[in-house]
Amino acid sequence: MTSEAQWLVPPPSPKGPDPIPLDRAFLRSIGLPPPEPGPDGQPWRYRLELSPTVRAAFRAPTGIMPSQWAERYFIVTEGSRPGPWKNENAPYAAGILDAWAEPYVRDVSVMAPPQLCKSKVAEILLGYIADRDPALTQYIVPDESSAAELVDERLRPMFEDSPRLSRLLTGSPKDLTAKKFQLRTMRVMLVWAGSTARLAAKAAKYQFRDEIDKYPVSPSKKETSTEKLLDKRQRTFRWDRKTYRASSPTTATGPIAMAVSVASAVFDFWVRCPICGHMQRMYLTAPDGRPCLRWPDDERDPNRIEDGSLAWYECERCQGHWDDAKRDRAVARGEWREERTGLPLFSHLRQHKPRRIAFRLSALLSMFVSLSEYAAAFLKAKGDKLLLRDFCNGYEGTPWQDYEVERAEKDILALRDDRPRGLVPGGGRTACLIGMVDTQEDHFIYTVRALGWGSSLPSWLVREGRVETFEGVAQVLWDDVYRDVDGVEYPVRLSVIDSQGNRTADVYEFCRQHRGKIFPLKGEQRMTRPHDFTRIDHFPNSEKKIPGGIKLLRVDTTVFKNQLSAKLSILPTDPGAFLLHAEATEEYARQMCAEYFDEEDSVWLCPKHRANHYWDCEVYGLACADLLGVRHWKRPEDKKPASAPASAPRPQPHSSGRVGLPSAIARRRG
Ligand SMILES: [Zn+2]
Repeated sequence: MTSEAQWLVPPPSPKGPDPIPLDRAFLRSIGLPPPEPGPDGQPWRYRLELSPTVRAAFRAPTGIMPSQWAERYFIVTEGSRPGPWKNENAPYAAGILDAWAEPYVRDVSVMAPPQLCKSKVAEILLGYIADRDPALTQYIVPDESSAAELVDERLRPMFEDSPRLSRLLTGSPKDLTAKKFQLRTMRVMLVWAGSTARLAAKAAKYQFRDEIDKYPVSPSKKETSTEKLLDKRQRTFRWDRKTYRASSPTTATGPIAMAVSVASAVFDFWVRCPICGHMQRMYLTAPDGRPCLRWPDDERDPNRIEDGSLAWYECERCQGHWDDAKRDRAVARGEWREERTGLPLFSHLRQHKPRRIAFRLSALLSMFVSLSEYAAAFLKAKGDKLLLRDFCNGYEGTPWQDYEVERAEKDILALRDDRPRGLVPGGGRTACLIGMVDTQEDHFIYTVRALGWGSSLPSWLVREGRVETFEGVAQVLWDDVYRDVDGVEYPVRLSVIDSQGNRTADVYEFCRQHRGKIFPLKGEQRMTRPHDFTRIDHFPNSEKKIPGGIKLLRVDTTVFKNQLSAKLSILPTDPGAFLLHAEATEEYARQMCAEYFDEEDSVWLCPKHRANHYWDCEVYGLACADLLGVRHWKRPEDKKPASAPASAPRPQPHSSGRVGLPSAIARRRG
C-alpha cells in the first residue's frame, strides 16, 4: 500500500457501506482539499451525498417504457377483454405510449374514432406517472358527469385492481371521488371544461385532455378558450410538461384536427399483409380511387353485409382477401410511420426530435370493429349528410369538411368574370400589371394581376400557375406578352418573389440579375410599417458578397391578409372587387380559403397540409399595389385607345352569355 493511499483508507466503519479509496490527484482535480488526519489520528473521509432528485432518478426502475410498464402492472377492468393489459390487443397503442415518454416530446395528440384505446392510453400513462414520477396531474373531460364516470368506471377500478397501483391508494374512500382523487404520492385533479374555477386553480406538470372536441368552446364569455386556459396552467412546467390530447374528430377546424395540423410530425399506422408481407395504409377507398374495403358487387344491403360478415379487405399488392382475423394479424404486424419522411416512429422521433406529435387512426384498424360493421356503416351513411358526418368522425377518424369552407370556395369562384386566362381587362381599365411568385422547394407558384385605376383599387387575375425553374419565372413575368382585347400590351410593372425557405441565396441571385424589375420579399407577421426595404449585402449564412447588394422587401403579412380577406368579400359588381378570369380553378379557390384568422392572437394561420400558395401570391400583390401607390395614380384621360369604338364588346365583370365563354364555365357559374 502506498503512503498516499494510507490517508484515504480509514478503518472500516461499523455502519454504512465500505469507503472507496480515492486518488489524491482526482480529489485535487475536482477542487477538494487533500485529506488530513483528524484530531483522533484517523484519516478524514469524504462523504458523497446525492441530492433527492438524483436519488429519485436512481430509485425508479430504470429503462421501463410505458408500454412495458402497462403489460406488467396495468389491468383492464372493463370491456370485452378484461385482465392484464396486452400490447398485442392494441398494437398501435404501444407506440403512442412510448413516444409520449420521449424526453423532448411535449404534446401528443391522437385523432381517432371510438374503440381505439385512446382513453386507455391516457389511463395507462396516468398509472405510469403515479408509479414513476408522481406530480400534479390534471385530467380534463368535457363535463361533470364524464368526470364522475371516469372515476367510478375507470380510474378507481384501475388503481384498486392493479397490485402495483393499489399500493398508492390512501385507503380512504373519500380520496377517490371526482372532486378529490388523492393518491399517497400525488393528486389527480379532475377538471371538466365547464368549471372555470377548477381550471384556474393550479399549475400541472401533466395534462390529459380527453375528447377535446366535446369541450364547450369557452367556459364563460369572459374567459378565453378552454384549450388556451389549459395551456396557461402548464406554463410553470414549460420545460418538462407533457400534454396528451385525444378525441374523435369533428370538423376540420375542431380542436383535435387543429392539434394535428400544427404538429411537427404526424404518424399513420401502416399494416403488413399477412399473405404477401407488403406494408400499406388501410383505406375505405385508396387515394387513387381503388376500393380497398370490399363486399359482393350484387349486395347493397348494409344489414345483410353486417350480419353475414360479407365484407373483406383487399391487399393493395397481392389483392389477397383479408377477413377480420387476417386484418387483426396485419395490424399486429404494423407500425407507425411519419407522413412526410415515411420513417418508422422512433427513427423519425430520434432523428427530428419533434415537440408536438400527432397520431391518426381509423376504425378499420380496430379489432373491436369488424370490417363488415365498417362497410355497413358506410353504406347506411351514403347519401345522408348527417350520417356521413358521423361515419367520417366515428369510423374514418377524419374531420368533417366544414360546410363554411365549401361555401367560401364557391364565393371565390363567383369572382370569375368572362375573360379567358391571360387576357388583360381592356377599355382603359388597367393601370398596370404586377407579378407575384411564391417559392417552393422545387417549383414556383405565380400570379399575374392587373390593377385598376381609382382609390377602390379594383383588380383582375390575369394568369396564375406553376413553373419549375427561374427561367420559367422570367418567361412568365417578362417574356410573355399580355394584351387586352384591343391588342394593347401591358408589361409587368413590378414583381416580387418570396425569398424565405431553403432557396434564399438562389432567389437573391435571380433578383440581382433582374435588378429593378423584381424584389425578393420576406413576409413578417407584425411590423411597425406595412412594408419596408432592408439592404442585403451578403448571401445568407455566408461571407459571399452580393455584387451591388439588393433590397429586400419586408411585408407585414397580417396587414395585407386582412386587406385581402376584406377584398374577397366585395361583390363582383361592386367597386374595388378582386376579380378572377373565367378559367380560375377550384384549386385556386381552395388555396384562397386555406388560411383562417385566429381571433385570440390576431394572426392568420394555415392548417398544415393545406396549400396556400395562391393566397400568399395575392397577399404579396396587395403589398405591391400599396408600394406602387396605384390608388393615388392619376388616370391619364388619353389612355383610351381611339381604335376601340365604345360599342365594341368588352368583357365586363360578371356579365353572362359572352361569346367564347366555355360552356362548362358558364354552367358552373350558374
Ligand atoms: Zn398482400
